[in-house]
Amino acid sequence: MRILMIGPPGAGKGTQGALIAAHFDIPRIVAGDLLRDHVARRTDLGRAVQGHLDRGELVPDEIILDVVRQALTAARAAGGGYLSDGVPRTMAQARAAYKIAVELGMSADVAVHLRAGDNELMRRLLARAALEHRSDDTAEVIRHRLELYHQVTQPIVAWYGQRGILVSVDAMRPAGEVSREVIAALELMRPLAGHIPTWARRPAT
Ligand code: AMP
Repeated sequence: MRILMIGPPGAGKGTQGALIAAHFDIPRIVAGDLLRDHVARRTDLGRAVQGHLDRGELVPDEIILDVVRQALTAARAAGGGYLSDGVPRTMAQARAAYKIAVELGMSADVAVHLRAGDNELMRRLLARAALEHRSDDTAEVIRHRLELYHQVTQPIVAWYGQRGILVSVDAMRPAGEVSREVIAALELMRPLAGHIPTWARRPAT
């Protein structure tokens, strides 16, 4: 299975992604973790993106797309399945990442959309801030990340809907309930994975 996770910060993409990837035995591509790892190792890329991460801003597309290309190439070598969490975050990234994925024969079979309200997300993210001390989990930066999600990421959901690969679930329930619903829906789609007709895979304009 090749799966994209879409949802606002705090909706549970990490938790659900880990459960779903374990169920289908596929590697996870977690853009935020890959970037944070570069920051921790003080690589050139890490130095280039640290300010963006700290402010809750999106890092430039060319950097993200490079990271995606490398990760998809590694996933292809490891068997072809993957679960991507964090990319795409903008319509431009969605189109560009789709092109790269098609080129590599790795375009997604399904996009899983986790729905949750802003008040609940703010509550969860502030709770996580107390536990993890992430540099981008302050109230002000969280508000900014949620605004960015509504402005630039949310429109992608409709695009996957038009392409016929969207599974949308209410993520404001206990994690176990959400993952059971998602995995059941994906199991139904599994026989179709890799057989989505060409017309349905073409990006909407
Ligand atoms: P996350 O852990 O997914 O919330 O991502 C943390 C931060 O990494 C974001 O606030 C951005 O600064 C950066 N980031 C992650 N994914 C992307 C992306 N697809 N495009 C641009 N920036 C990203």
